[in-house]
Amino acid sequence: MNEVALLRQLHLHGHSSRVELAAILKLDTKTVTNLTRDLLKKRYIKACGLAPLDRGRPRQMLQLNSRVLQAIGIYLKEDAVHGAVIDLEGRIRHKISAPIFGEGSHKALLQTLRKIADQLLRQSKVKVMGIGLAFPGIYDTQTQRIIECTHLPAWKGVCIPDVFQGVYQGPFFFDTFTRAKALAEQWYGAARALENFILVDAGVGIGCAIVNQGQLQTGATHLAGEIGHIIIDRQGLPCRCGRRGCLETVSSLEPVRRHMQQITGQTRQRLPVPAMAALLTRDNPAIRAAVTEAGQTLGLALANLVQVLNPAHIVLAGDMVELGPLFIQSVNEGLTEYSIPTFRHAVRVIPGTLGENGALLGAGILALQSLFSS
Ligand SMILES: [Zn+2]
Repeated sequence: MNEVALLRQLHLHGHSSRVELAAILKLDTKTVTNLTRDLLKKRYIKACGLAPLDRGRPRQMLQLNSRVLQAIGIYLKEDAVHGAVIDLEGRIRHKISAPIFGEGSHKALLQTLRKIADQLLRQSKVKVMGIGLAFPGIYDTQTQRIIECTHLPAWKGVCIPDVFQGVYQGPFFFDTFTRAKALAEQWYGAARALENFILVDAGVGIGCAIVNQGQLQTGATHLAGEIGHIIIDRQGLPCRCGRRGCLETVSSLEPVRRHMQQITGQTRQRLPVPAMAALLTRDNPAIRAAVTEAGQTLGLALANLVQVLNPAHIVLAGDMVELGPLFIQSVNEGLTEYSIPTFRHAVRVIPGTLGENGALLGAGILALQSLFSS
């Protein structure tokens, strides 16, 4: 317990002396000296210079050792697996990726995930604290199986604890990639020091992660935040979930891509996100209208959400944000148009700062944060 509290203190404040740690943790200096001796031996912490004092001997300062405190983060996206060794300071040390094919088999998908983990375990120069996996879809907390994943059918039915069977037996942590992105933005990105925010992840699907008083909220059965299937138009287009008019049928990447391909006549190949962003820089009103509609409709959904949750910030992440400022501007317009002013004034929309690496870092944090919880 004391060791965890000491590590947490160094994580929050960067560096401290033993005397400062003893005062903050309400422990005697002998206990702190013993604790730090053990942690120095394990190389979890290191000395980082002396703090001069007006009187007496200068005090040795201590900090966490990010060279040793590393984890593997693996991000299963709808079209690829990305993996990296990350350290406690949020640095990505080795990154590798492999494409996947959503309609492929369970077996092929698991083979790719295992291959990425195996390669990273070999490349890592230190013993990692664990592997964290960030994935799409929703899972049953009882059986720990994926019960729904409309954008990656091969993932449905997988038993998550078995994912790295045969290549890794150490500590393993997992969560949805939207929640992993929220953790990463909270530790290293736009949501640093924010206590009440929601992260909205708009890409192939649309999800959100709710952070209240610094803590991620999961709901009773870990399903909180599935905003992509909020119905915004009862007569709307059919959705992959089997119903009509879900938010995803208007504000996610695929309908916008479809519109852009129809407008430009480029229907043979799927337009990649950077090409979609480039199209938006041309002065084509129809293309701009497609993105504006997607953004404003997301703004409408968020206006409803804000009236329920009253967050101080909305952090926008995902491929839709990569399309450029028009999308964020349209989200703001929708939010303003459909909110009660008191609620609108209390919330700010900000873009995430970690981009594509957010989920990867968040996956690593799932493993690293175990150090700071008892
Ligand atoms: Zn739906």
